[in-house]
Amino acid sequence: MKVICVGRNYAEHAKELNNAVPDKPLLFFKPDSAVLRENKDFYYPEFTQNLHFECELVIRIGKEGKHIPEAFVRNYIDGIGLGIDMTARDLQDEAKAKGLPWTLAKGFNDSAPVSEFLPLEDFPNLQDIRFRCDINGQIRQQGHSADMIFPVGNLIAYITRFITLKKGDFVFTGTPSGVGPLQIGDHIQASIEGKQLLDFHVR
Ligand code: MG
Repeated sequence: MKVICVGRNYAEHAKELNNAVPDKPLLFFKPDSAVLRENKDFYYPEFTQNLHFECELVIRIGKEGKHIPEAFVRNYIDGIGLGIDMTARDLQDEAKAKGLPWTLAKGFNDSAPVSEFLPLEDFPNLQDIRFRCDINGQIRQQGHSADMIFPVGNLIAYITRFITLKKGDFVFTGTPSGVGPLQIGDHIQASIEGKQLLDFHVR
């Protein structure tokens, strides 16, 4: 399976990192070795001094599709969950300054903690999903899928013009504003529509 992620999909987040709002989706991958499940502890990597959390809605793909028309995207989704796009911001800033890819900054081991998935039927409107992320009991991010620059349908139609999505693939849909650094000992909790799905610690 693969994990495909979109960067800068919320205008407020693009602004907080001083990035321009994109005119088409900015995509990158994480390898399958990035996926961390079952709310297992996340271990702070030794190669970064500035690890950031980015809480994101995650789409799980239910069947293979290429060139999926936007109107049929729901037929290819089998669940909605949450993930943290763990980012070594110092490595990413270095790569960005040199115009180089973000592979190591975003794709290192366990850089994609992913929750259980809620069935698609729970979400009649993919553009009206609210989620939030708390660190140590304080609200840090509050997202609403209505604020995505490229909504889920648009995003999946765009991706599959280039890349076939297969059953079990994850699509990280971008993070709202409020990202920030993590420290060893931090407690991450995140919920969709009041249902807590992520609850784990940084060790
Ligand atoms: Mg992200």
